Parts: sequence; C-alpha cells; structure tokens
Amino acid sequence: MIDTARGQEIDLPAWNSFFRHMLSRRARVESKAHHKVTRLESILRSSAAFPEALGPQDVFLSPHSDDICFSLGALAHRRHAGIHLTLFPYVRYVAKPGLKKVPGPVTALRMNEDVAFTTRCGLQPRFLPLADADLLGIPRYDRSSIEPCLARTESPLLEALADFSRHHREGPRPWLFCPMGIGGHMDHVATRMAVTRNLTGIARKYRVAFYEDLHYASEARVRLAGLADFRQDIPGTPMRRVKLPLGEEVPLKLSLLQGYSSQFAEVPRDIGAFTPGLADTPPHEALWTAEEWS
Ligand SMILES: [Zn+2]
Repeated sequence: MIDTARGQEIDLPAWNSFFRHMLSRRARVESKAHHKVTRLESILRSSAAFPEALGPQDVFLSPHSDDICFSLGALAHRRHAGIHLTLFPYVRYVAKPGLKKVPGPVTALRMNEDVAFTTRCGLQPRFLPLADADLLGIPRYDRSSIEPCLARTESPLLEALADFSRHHREGPRPWLFCPMGIGGHMDHVATRMAVTRNLTGIARKYRVAFYEDLHYASEARVRLAGLADFRQDIPGTPMRRVKLPLGEEVPLKLSLLQGYSSQFAEVPRDIGAFTPGLADTPPHEALWTAEEWS
C-alpha cells in the first residue's frame, strides 16, 4: 500500500516496478510518464504534514479518485478525520479538454486531486496499488467480469482494513463507508462485494455504512436498479437509509467537486447530478446501514 502518513515511507521501488509493468502491458513506456511519477513522489513525500486524526479512524473507501468527494464530500468535510483509501488510482481517463489519456500523467494528476481533497477534509490519503478496469482492458460495466475483479480487490482491501484497525483506540468502532455499486461499474461493485462477503469479520472492527454512488444515483432508474442489485448481497437484513441534507453546504460541496477538474468537460455549477434521484427531495448525500453492523 502506498502510505503518505507521517513517518512512513512510500514503497517507491515496488510502485514504479508495478507502474512500468502496467505500462508495458498496455503501451510503450513513456519517459514523460516516469518523470511525472517521480514528481508525484516528491509531492507525496512533502505532504507528510497531515495531522494524525483527532477523531475515530473512519475509513472512506473510494474506488476511484473522486468517488468519496462526489458521494460523501460534505460528510467527509464535516467529520474531518479518518482515512481516504483510493483503491484503483492507476487510470487514464480524463474528461477535461486538452488533457491526454496517458496513464502516467493522468494517474499523477488524479492522485494530486485526491491529496488536495483530503487536505481540505482533514483526511489521510492512502492508495492501493491497483489499476482500474479500464486500464486493464476490462469492460467496466460487464458483470461477467466480476469474479476476477473481486479476486484482485479482496485481499489488498482486507489487508488494508486490518492494518488500519490495528491503530484503533478504546471507544466506539470507527465507521467504514463503502460504495453500494450503484451504476454497476465493476470497480465499485468489486469494492462493495469485497466488503459484503466479509461483513461479519469487518463489522467486528468497524461500523459499516454503504453510500449511494454519485453521480450514478442521481438518475432515478439507475439508482433503483443499483439498490436492488445491492440488496442481493445482503438479503433479509433490515436496513435503514440515512439522509444527510446538504442545506447550506451546497456551495461547499460544489467547490469540493470542482477540485476534481480533470473529470469534467465543464466544471459543475449545479448540484443536480450530485444528489440522489428522489423526487421532491432537497440535495443530500445518503447512507444505508443496519443495526447489526452499526
Ligand atoms: Zn468511480
């Protein structure tokens, strides 16, 4: 795991070796990409000024850079403590005009967006050394790919959660915020299933809540299909939905979203795509949890 916490070294040789391997599989190695990665290393080294979390070590699972910001940005900013774990930081996708979809520079850019977001939210950024489905040539919405996606996600995620929980102090268990997989992106569904398949063990260390993935959940039809799909992982467990109104935090949430400018052709100035698709409901973020895990 790439770790930017105070006093801990990033495992750069392993990171670079993995990164070169990825590039050689997908394309020729570009010296420019390596230069960007080297530059990112120094940025991450100098980012060691993150204070130790004052509150419980909540863990926010973000399949890709930006998922926590899009889905729970206001909550993360409000709690202002914990760990932001990006599971699949190695990517090439950008939406902003003028940026090339080259894995090295794009990965560096997006990790920097995570570092900026987590700094604003008082979170500690962590990154698993995994590539997203797109970079591996896996169709991102092809459910027949779920088992290999899950297989490569489960072990590193469980190891990271076990590692984080070693530092828990006395008191209530910290929260683990996990995506529901609404929208059906393989990386989101694999993250969710890695948690639901191991829920009993995870719930001994964490209180668990699943969040509605935004922007996907802003479309009513996609949201309902995603909720039904999620339910199949946990049949029969009574669950409750926790609505977290944005209220006066709408401008704050928009400004957090705008920090991920690489992901927008035009920066969002309206919260409409970042609130669950429920009629007549003011902008909010949403979690689902159950008594037995919380
Ligand atoms: Zn995502």
